[in-house]
Amino acid sequence: MKYFKTYENCIVTSGYKRSLISDLQFGYSEFIPNSMAEIIKRLNSNFPIDLLYEEFDNDDREIIKEYILFLESKSLGQYYDDHDILRFSEMEKSFSSPEDISNIIIEAGIDPFLNLNRFVSQENLIFCKNLCLIFYENLTAEELYQVKKIIEASSLYSVEIIIKYNHFMNEEFIKMFGFEFSKLTKLYIHSAPFNKEIFWEGNNLIDTIFSKKKINNFKSCGSVKSLDFGVNIPKFTEALNYNSCLHKKIAIDKDGNICNCPAMNKSYGNIKDTTLDEVIFDVDFKKYWNLTKDYIEVCKDCEFRYICTDCRGYTERTHTNGNGLDISKPLKCGYNPYTGEWEDWSTNSLKEKAIKYYEMQDLIREIN
Ligand code: SF4
Ligand code: SF4
Repeated sequence: MKYFKTYENCIVTSGYKRSLISDLQFGYSEFIPNSMAEIIKRLNSNFPIDLLYEEFDNDDREIIKEYILFLESKSLGQYYDDHDILRFSEMEKSFSSPEDISNIIIEAGIDPFLNLNRFVSQENLIFCKNLCLIFYENLTAEELYQVKKIIEASSLYSVEIIIKYNHFMNEEFIKMFGFEFSKLTKLYIHSAPFNKEIFWEGNNLIDTIFSKKKINNFKSCGSVKSLDFGVNIPKFTEALNYNSCLHKKIAIDKDGNICNCPAMNKSYGNIKDTTLDEVIFDVDFKKYWNLTKDYIEVCKDCEFRYICTDCRGYTERTHTNGNGLDISKPLKCGYNPYTGEWEDWSTNSLKEKAIKYYEMQDLIREIN
């Protein structure tokens, strides 16, 4: 008997209108029709090709042949015989990571170092891998080096900094800063006089983005763009099992409040008198961690649901589940899985109420 199966790292996600096959090893996805997704499911259940052909008339058989040809040509699967098929196993789709917290967001307040200092002075930092540090105001070069000193002395693994442009931030300075600051992976410079992206390459050891966009609050976060839909095994399996933004994330907002993300109102204490340990063992704090896109309205029918990052901070505010969790579609997503089309989310009249609720009118004016 002859069989055809997709490789174990090539995963199909079916949406309402179409499906996506994602190669988690090489990090790319292809759209496929839902009918092809159904055929892949049959073939992957060790169903012999000839027996499958017998179920269809000539025209449909030709279509199935084209599907297999497509999958083979894109290196998404291969033929097997009776002997080989026994060696095939499914990819492990569970997700686990040793740390209690993998991501932290810190918004700088009036004193730009207060929240950062209070955070790094906590005894148990081993649990945290990546930090996103946000400065709405600019810093001097000396202050930026002070940030470097604090972070280099901590057990944090990597840091991404969002900071307001200052005149000394030329490419030469940034190249040197990135070279000296080994934990820095990305510098996003807002309110810059120009737009420019410089990616990690050769002597540039960080990604740098200069953007004319002004950022003076957290409302810029949460945009859903297809450009950000990268795939790999950890990202995909985490999204399959947990919330793709909030799982193992903690944030300290500009006022020192400890929360899931600075866009979410609920505070679990203040960094001046509450330890992060106290917060991460609070069951209520983790209430969104297990909410996958399979339970979020609209997203549950979307083929991008395991490769797109969720947002619970800004949603359409249309649905709540029995446990009081907001299960509405992310506000800043313009994709419609029922038509397969993208549109500008900011001009969608159905989102007006939520836009007003979040007081995003200024942000929308800037975008448009
Ligand atoms: S509807 Fe938008 S937010 Fe939801 S999964 Fe699809 S692309 Fe992502
Ligand atoms: S929940 Fe939304 S606003 Fe909060 S960090 Fe995630 S993407 Fe950003």
